[in-house]
Amino acid sequence: MDNLIRYSTIEDKNKREILLLMGSGCKWKKCSFCDYHTDFNKDEEYCFKINEQELNKVTGKYNTLEVVNSGSFVDLDKKTMKKIEDVCIQKNINTLHFECHWAHKDEIAPLKEHFNNIGIKIKTKIGMETFDYYYRESFLNKGIEEKDVTIIKEYFDEVCLLQGLPGQSLDFMLKDIAIGLEHFERICVNIMVENKTKIKPDPNTINNFINHIYPIYKNNTRVDILLNNTDFGVGGNKND
Ligand code: SF4
Repeated sequence: MDNLIRYSTIEDKNKREILLLMGSGCKWKKCSFCDYHTDFNKDEEYCFKINEQELNKVTGKYNTLEVVNSGSFVDLDKKTMKKIEDVCIQKNINTLHFECHWAHKDEIAPLKEHFNNIGIKIKTKIGMETFDYYYRESFLNKGIEEKDVTIIKEYFDEVCLLQGLPGQSLDFMLKDIAIGLEHFERICVNIMVENKTKIKPDPNTINNFINHIYPIYKNNTRVDILLNNTDFGVGGNKND
C-alpha cells in the first residue's frame, strides 16, 4: 500500500501546488547521498492509479503546479503525462515545474515546446547540489559531467543545492548560492538529513548554515530552503 503524502500546497514563496508522483524510477540512481530513488514502480498501471488519485486533488488555486517524482519527468508514464496536461488545462495551470537529471537534458526542449503550444510554461529544475565540479562528481557522484554553468543554464531554469555536508565551509555554501542566484531564476537549498546512505549530515556545517546563511536568505522569494526534506509537505509518511 502506498503510504506517502503526495499532495501539498506551498503557501509562502512562489505559491504553488506540489505533487510527488510515482514513476518507473530514476535511471541514474547513483548519487551517493540519495535513498529516495526507491520510490518507484515498474508497473505503469500501478503508478498511474496512484498518480491519477493525486492529480485529482489539484485545484489550480495558484495557477502553478510543481511535479516531483524522485527522478526525472521522463520516468513518468504516458498516461500520467497526459493526465498532468489535462489537469493543467482544466484547472488553469499556466506554469508547470518538473525535475530532470542532466542525462535527460535533450528531452527538455520537446517537452517545453509541447506544453508551450497549449499555453503552459514549463520550468525545469536540476539537482546540481553544488557547482564545485570535483566535490560534486567525486563525492556526490551526480553524473553531471558539464562544468560550465552557462551551458547548464541553457536547459534548466532552477537548481537544487545540497548543503549541510562534511567539508562544506561557509564560503563554499555561500558561493554556491551566489552562483545559483546569478544564473537561475530560483534555487532550492536542501539541508542534508540522516537517511539510509553512508553520507551523513555534518552538525557543524548545519549550525553554520543556520546561524550565518539562513538569516540572509530566509525571506528571499527566489530561495526555497528545506531544513527538512519533507518541508514542502510531500514525502512524509501518512501515519507520522
Ligand atoms: S538523480 Fe535524483 S533521484 Fe536519481 S539518484 Fe540522484 S538524487 Fe537520487
